[in-house]
Amino acid sequence: MSLADSYRHVAAEVAQAAGEAGGVKLIAVSKTFPAEDIRAVYAAGCRDFGENYIQEWYDKTETLVDLPDIVWHVIGDIQSNKTKFVAERAHWVHTVGRLKTAQRLSAQRPPQMPPLQVCIEVNIADEAAKHGVKPEAALALALEVAKLPNLEVRGLMCVAKADSSDDELRTQFGMMRQLLADVQAAGIAADVLSMGMSGDMRIAVECGATHVRIGSAIFGKRDYGAGKAV
Ligand SMILES: *Cc1c(COP(=O)(O)O)cnc(C)c1O
Repeated sequence: MSLADSYRHVAAEVAQAAGEAGGVKLIAVSKTFPAEDIRAVYAAGCRDFGENYIQEWYDKTETLVDLPDIVWHVIGDIQSNKTKFVAERAHWVHTVGRLKTAQRLSAQRPPQMPPLQVCIEVNIADEAAKHGVKPEAALALALEVAKLPNLEVRGLMCVAKADSSDDELRTQFGMMRQLLADVQAAGIAADVLSMGMSGDMRIAVECGATHVRIGSAIFGKRDYGAGKAV
């Protein structure tokens, strides 16, 4: 299958999972894949792309400057020395898990640009190896980030625990939905649940995901190369 066909296939699956309500945004996660692959999926109609590794993404934004309506979603951890580039080039950051990162992004967002759209990353299963704020601290972080001038808190993001059963996925995604309700009840106009990947997209959408982040089902299996962090 060509990349364009895989993209159309996944887009149809997402639309089917969303059902009549619709409105689930498909973000094509292109990490480790070359800029030409992004071009192929763009040509098939996709505009939203997700990237994890800031240096790799930087190079792709340079190669793809001729695609002005591309929407870049940063979905990886951002080290302090990389916040400036993210503030200058990203449309969305799904992985705000610390106030410090948010403060730097807000301070470095160029004033002529619209506010950076951000999600609070929640470590929903409280895993030692994962980034993100603990579920019980998510609301407090959202309230702090919402005070920053150049960021707009749009919602919450998570990566479910690997190898979860369907029931375990429903528990984690259900907690995310409840946390978003708490954020909304606290007065933040947040409307996004960024959850669901190639392996758990259907259950995520069933549980209220508004944005799904799909990589391998579109681009194929990733080859991280020697020594590169997953
Ligand atoms: C890699 C990645 C994805 C996409 O994962 P697939 O299983 O390839 O669909 C989604 N979200 C995050 C945060 C990722 O790092």
